[in-house]
Amino acid sequence: MKDSEKKPTALSRRTFLSHLAAAGAGTVAISGNAAAATTLLRPVIIDNPLSQYPNRGWEKTYRNLYKSDSSFTFLCAPNDTHNCLLRAHVKNGVVTRISPTYGYNKAQDLDGNQASRRWDPRCCQKGLALARRFYGDRRCKTPMVRKGFRAWVEAGFPRDPKSGAVPAEYLHRGTDPWVQATWDEAFELSAKAIKNIAETYTGEEGKKRLLAQGYDPAMVETTQGIGTQVLKFRGGMPPLGMTRVFAQYRLANSMALLDAKVRGVGPDQAVGGRGWDNYSWHTDLPPGHRMVTGQQTVDFDLCNVEHSKLAIVWGMNWITTKMPDGHWLTEARMKGTKIVVISAEYSATANKADSVVIVRPGTTPALALGIAQVLISEKRFDADYVRAYSDLPFLVRMDTGQLLRAHEVFRTIKIRS
Ligand code: SF4
Repeated sequence: MKDSEKKPTALSRRTFLSHLAAAGAGTVAISGNAAAATTLLRPVIIDNPLSQYPNRGWEKTYRNLYKSDSSFTFLCAPNDTHNCLLRAHVKNGVVTRISPTYGYNKAQDLDGNQASRRWDPRCCQKGLALARRFYGDRRCKTPMVRKGFRAWVEAGFPRDPKSGAVPAEYLHRGTDPWVQATWDEAFELSAKAIKNIAETYTGEEGKKRLLAQGYDPAMVETTQGIGTQVLKFRGGMPPLGMTRVFAQYRLANSMALLDAKVRGVGPDQAVGGRGWDNYSWHTDLPPGHRMVTGQQTVDFDLCNVEHSKLAIVWGMNWITTKMPDGHWLTEARMKGTKIVVISAEYSATANKADSVVIVRPGTTPALALGIAQVLISEKRFDADYVRAYSDLPFLVRMDTGQLLRAHEVFRTIKIRS
């Protein structure tokens, strides 16, 4: 019988270890068991490992890697505004995996229009890896309050008697440490501060304080002495993720309830706070877009790109920054839409385009004006659309920089009050 045909010695791990232990009992014992140990350590030749391997239970660990005890659906709502509906898979009380829901096709609008399966799977790698953020050691799990702000509220809102300004010692923004608070404390601190600000800047006294602080008189005048008008609401990106983009505007409007109380006016006169939008406040979105077209960019659903003959992707790296909507662009192209990308670099979207225009940074306004000149001089524009949706028909006065009004040209036209 050849060695390879011999059955391996049936030897349990326990027996093997006890042999070794005996061998290690002393020098004399080692020499006495040396022959047996050498036999045991001889390599065993096995033709089919699967028929011989003593314990294959470990394989289940790999098979069960994607098994979960339960799952739940949630909305992924970070800064990127895509709001993908995702599914979290839970094992032993821990979210171990995240996947798309494949549930978009079940959505129906109020008129009974059913969404297409083409929306699925809607997600991106960041969403799939979100469990790491759930359990990340840098995750903020409680409200955090700037130390100086908290001290100012707890000191009873000290202010300069003349201007109402907050003393500098409470205003170390950027260097002040953050301190933890409970949710109840955070709500109370915010509510008290909002009420104090509204009261401080209400009425003629309030206007005087703003002027003493150096605010532009025209700006102060627009508050009309209504304290809630100096409250500005615009969520930073993390709150916008939780509350969505428009929740802050609703919160601003709800300040009318506070104004009714502070000024003692009825609902017909109560005025809310100011909602500062993402366009004009910190220009996270293109401020010029709304000025020119009258529409927010969020009015445009990227799924509609396939209905256009020509799409110019400009000021946006669609494939990189609109991850779950990237397929609409590539599918539109397959359906015949011509894609032109204008970009300062050869972006991920550029290689999905029919034509790419690489421009030097800072030169795009000149390019836009050049295109506009050709469109206008060759009358290659949709006049009805331009009239209805853009400010192109309006003229700007050279002397005041204001829009020219019809009554300034035709004196017979009366201004409606
Ligand atoms: S695109 Fe990614 S990060 Fe953005 S909402 Fe969807 S899954 Fe979340």
